[in-house]
Amino acid sequence: MRERPEKIRCDACPVMCYIAEGRAGACDRYANEGGRIIRVDPLTILDRRIAKGDEIKPFLNAEWDGSIDSGQDVVVSAIGAGTTYPDYKPAPFIVSREIEGADFVTVVTEAIFSYCGVKVKIDTDRHLGQEAATVRSEGEAIGHVMTGEYGSQMLSLGGVDHLTGGSKAEGRKTCDALLRLCNKEAVDLTIDDGSTVTVQAGQPPIVDGKMEERMRVGCGSATIGMFASQWKGLVDEVVVVDDHITGVVSEHQAGKVIDWPDTGIRIKGHRSTPGRYFKVAEPGLGWGGTDISDPLSILGDWRVAKGARPGLTLLMVSTTGEHSAFYELDDNLTPVPRPMPETLQASVDLIAENCEPARSTVLFMGGAGGSLRSGVTRNPIHLTRSVHAGRTRVTLGGAPAYVWPGGGITVMVDVTELPDGAFGYVPTPALVAPLEFTLERTEYVALGGHIDRVRQLDDVLEKGGEYGAASRIVGTND
Ligand code: SF4
Repeated sequence: MRERPEKIRCDACPVMCYIAEGRAGACDRYANEGGRIIRVDPLTILDRRIAKGDEIKPFLNAEWDGSIDSGQDVVVSAIGAGTTYPDYKPAPFIVSREIEGADFVTVVTEAIFSYCGVKVKIDTDRHLGQEAATVRSEGEAIGHVMTGEYGSQMLSLGGVDHLTGGSKAEGRKTCDALLRLCNKEAVDLTIDDGSTVTVQAGQPPIVDGKMEERMRVGCGSATIGMFASQWKGLVDEVVVVDDHITGVVSEHQAGKVIDWPDTGIRIKGHRSTPGRYFKVAEPGLGWGGTDISDPLSILGDWRVAKGARPGLTLLMVSTTGEHSAFYELDDNLTPVPRPMPETLQASVDLIAENCEPARSTVLFMGGAGGSLRSGVTRNPIHLTRSVHAGRTRVTLGGAPAYVWPGGGITVMVDVTELPDGAFGYVPTPALVAPLEFTLERTEYVALGGHIDRVRQLDDVLEKGGEYGAASRIVGTND
């Protein structure tokens, strides 16, 4: 009978794969090499002295000066480090560093985040979907639309309810979408009763197949304020069409202070304060994030008693300058389209010029306050307190994390600040993210750290760790 190769068990996550010689486990992050479980990706060392994206192997490449002082410029990241799971052992690497003459320790581990997600900011005025509408990836619910911000639509994706609280398919698709978003890949998202949007960290969003180029200069009211004095004398009335606040220069305070004459214009919509109107139309993909393609549809009858007259000129423009039109009132006080005067075109161009490039931003957010803290210290609450007191710095793949106030260690980080491919997953399903804690050696001793496991960087590079000795050095973003 042919002897079957013996499989060995990986215990780096709760899945506990049995892996045959030469094969990888379910997450492709660990493999059986010669009867030993190794981490497939090399341990990543960040070196600020080499250019972003440059990658070298330590000792094998003359470009690296071989310096192994792990000071401020050379940092052991947790990418490729391995995990502490099942959290009974110290973190895979606890590395000594000298920063400005003081002894520091960096504790690195790849953290398994069952409680995690991403917050997505999409720079667009266009209506992507109603607040709280479900967001889907490949048909499965993975999150929802949340409160819009100034010039941007916001999504909240992932979280434990989608990862583990729904069907298997929902969990898998959620994990897959999060992983790709965190690794800076493009992901198509569909919003119930709304749009399809392609999101990629740091890239322009694509809404219903159309690439978004500009983020609005401001709301309609702000745009009036910014440009009122430049329009004076060139046109009799200006309306800045905006789904949130449509502005009318003759009524707006910015017009009043420069003695802009009344025009008798009437806007259909909810008048908030003078020259500022809400709900002039439904939200959509048209002018200024409304559903309109004809801006005249938001105007009512002109009032002669308030200054309307034949020959009165009107500029209508959106908050990005993407849409604009020029009109003149005829004898019946009906606006008739006219060619845009060059002088006014310059002001429309100025609105467009003042817009910033539209981008998608992806922030990874997760709770690092669980059992993985025991990989850092025997008394985990001390780590939480040290983080909140600002004595322990938290980074993900070398990128500084924002730590939420309150309980736990809930972190948020811009994924574009991490090296490429920094995130992984396990099929539980959960995301795996690199996590580093850096603190003074004295603080590490005080909080009950695994001080006997502290190593120098040269020792790490030479001998590796529990999961092998492969390493690489990459340049950082800063
Ligand atoms: S999924 Fe990956 S980390 Fe988890 S046991 Fe399998 S190989 Fe190990």
